[in-house]
Amino acid sequence: MNDQQYPVHYVCTKEEALNLINQHKKFWLSDCGCRVGKGSVCKQSRIDVCLYFTDTWEGMGSPLRSISKKEALLVLEESKNKNLVSRPFRNPKDKNITDGVCFCCNDCCAYFLCPDEVCDNGKYRESTDMEKCNLCGICVDLCYFHARKIENDQMIVIKDNCYRCGICAEICPEVSIQMILREQE
Ligand code: SF4
Ligand code: SF4
Repeated sequence: MNDQQYPVHYVCTKEEALNLINQHKKFWLSDCGCRVGKGSVCKQSRIDVCLYFTDTWEGMGSPLRSISKKEALLVLEESKNKNLVSRPFRNPKDKNITDGVCFCCNDCCAYFLCPDEVCDNGKYRESTDMEKCNLCGICVDLCYFHARKIENDQMIVIKDNCYRCGICAEICPEVSIQMILREQE
């Protein structure tokens, strides 16, 4: 695929989102356009969670406001606490550049709700150590993409459904899930 044909958005882990923040010195925040579009409320989080590394964007749901790195890190921290999916967006003219990160959930965000909205899978894939898994089911309930289920006392991962967001690895109490770099598919 030609670089310029990539979807604007892709999914990444929180660690990758932290790396993106650490690569930048200036930050801006706007309300989330999806949350604003659904009435400026979200059952899961605050609505000002669209983080930018450039002020060349209009702002998704409100004008941009400049914030400190400390505030940017707090947005990331909140996204972890609220189990939001990190979804960076690329520069529309140069898809090798990432211009910012949205933090999404299934209450409002378009790509959860609309099957036509295209978004790339992440670079890492989940790997579950079945010896450590105690089948508590927490990851099954939290996976937005219905990629995990327990059947016949076995954890089953439906790889085609997995967006590689890494939330299951963040929340597993047994630390039985790792995110590992996947080969190009
Ligand atoms: S959260 Fe961890 S221990 Fe619980 S079912 Fe999922 S993989 Fe297994
Ligand atoms: S199994 Fe679900 S929670 Fe885990 S990485 Fe895949 S999409 Fe995310």
